[in-house]
Amino acid sequence: MVPYKTQGIILNRYDFQDADKLFTVLTPDKGKIKVVGRGVKKSKSKLGAHLEPFSVVDLMIAPGRRMDIVTAAVSRRNFVNLKSAIHKIQYGWYCCELLDNLLKLERPDKDMFDLLESAFRFLDDGDDEQSVFMLNVFVWKALFFLGYTPELYHCLSCGRPLKPAQNFFHSLKGGVVCGFCIQDKLDKTIIMPVMPHSIKILRFAANNSLERVLRINFQQEVLYEFTCLTDMFLEQYLDKKLNTRCYL
Ligand SMILES: [Zn+2]
Repeated sequence: MVPYKTQGIILNRYDFQDADKLFTVLTPDKGKIKVVGRGVKKSKSKLGAHLEPFSVVDLMIAPGRRMDIVTAAVSRRNFVNLKSAIHKIQYGWYCCELLDNLLKLERPDKDMFDLLESAFRFLDDGDDEQSVFMLNVFVWKALFFLGYTPELYHCLSCGRPLKPAQNFFHSLKGGVVCGFCIQDKLDKTIIMPVMPHSIKILRFAANNSLERVLRINFQQEVLYEFTCLTDMFLEQYLDKKLNTRCYL
């Protein structure tokens, strides 16, 4: 096994043995990997100085017997503004925790890497007021890249084209059910009313980049509904709430 070069964004890090840390890293060409950084807890560690979250890092990795080992790391891009504001840091960790939970190890996905880099770029220098909307879109884009395709054009029950009226998102069936087909007795934790604007955002997000989706104009109540929809669906999908969600 020969050493290899890759780029990476740190998704998580844990203390590991005396001076080492274990890192979960998202790479464009190897997907999510786990690697050890030897001696990075020492204050003079050059490696440790570059293995920081919210950066794109050039990595040299040597395959190890039990775990691959980082032998060199150089920051390629530092998201300085993101790192300097506590609310941005919390948003950034939310993106990382989401992908760490969604992704299996060693499934290469360049789109997913680019999505995370785009999210960090936005948190670094985008419109701060749009950050919560960005996080919601980020969740759906990540799910779309993993192959999740909710039905957004026809009622899942009767098959009729959805009208621009109040419909209902059914998180277990994975898509929208029209007002005629929804049953009063359905569990409210798996369905929620969804207005036409939220459906439009999802349709647009399925086929467009994060940057393009963030140019959509909407009213505040749409953001509230869209956020509730995202939270409800994600909790069903992961079967838990993300730890970082409570800080948003
Ligand atoms: Zn229907």
